[in-house]
Parts: sequence; structure tokens; C-alpha cells
Amino acid sequence: MKIIHAQDPTYIIRLLRGEEVVEQILSFCKEKTIDAAWIQGLGAVDRAVISSYNFEKREYEKLTLEEDTELLSLQGNIAYNNGERMLHAHVTLGRADKTVIGGHLHSMRISGTGEIQITKLNGKFEREFDEETGLSLLKES
Ligand code: ZN
Repeated sequence: MKIIHAQDPTYIIRLLRGEEVVEQILSFCKEKTIDAAWIQGLGAVDRAVISSYNFEKREYEKLTLEEDTELLSLQGNIAYNNGERMLHAHVTLGRADKTVIGGHLHSMRISGTGEIQITKLNGKFEREFDEETGLSLLKES
């Protein structure tokens, strides 16, 4: 990871080939003590695990993509869940045939680059379990 811009509250990082996106973002936020943030990014990845949430089964149905895709968009945020800093992110990936696929992000490996903006927000975001949906949702502050 290279730090391209670091002027509180805005940080831009560049992720390197082979780096795991979720791990890198979380480790950067830990290092900078970022407890609430909104995140966006783009780049290129060669492996991704994404999912969609099945409301009936109350579980994420995962798909592993082992192919080169353009990371067209990553949108996410940082909040605490059960006392741990968590990245919740969704991604849109562009395939070689120019179609797109996307979902809730579990993990993703950089092939070319990852250009990520992290906007730090004041305070701390927290999540709490919601009975109705089975999801951990952002809590009012
Ligand atoms: Zn999600």
C-alpha cells in the first residue's frame, strides 16, 4: 500500500498487485484510528468473493470470481460491529466481455491497482443486530 494523500479527513491510498483489499483498508483505518468513514474506490482485481443476501434463509450466498475484472466501483463504510472495526462494501466489477457483475464484498485481490478514497468522519459508527432482517445495521448516534 502506498499513501498518496493524507490530509485529515481525506485519505487516498493505492493498493498494490497481490494485496487483499478488505484487509488493507481495515489495517489503514486501524493505523489512523478511523472509527467512522465513507469509502469509495476503483481499480483492477483478479479474484473476488461477492454475495447477495437471501432474506428467507438469512444468509449471504457467495460467489467466487477467479478472473480479471475492472473494479468499476467500490462503495463502503467503516463501523464497529461486536466491538470490531468492520468494512461494509459493495462492488461493481466489469468483466472482459464488458458485462458487469457485483455484490456485497467479502474479499478481493488487486491485479493492477486499487485507488481508494477514505473520508474520515467524526466519532464512531456502530452496528447492531436487527431481528427483522437478520442483518447488523448502522445504529443511530
Ligand atoms: Zn452489503
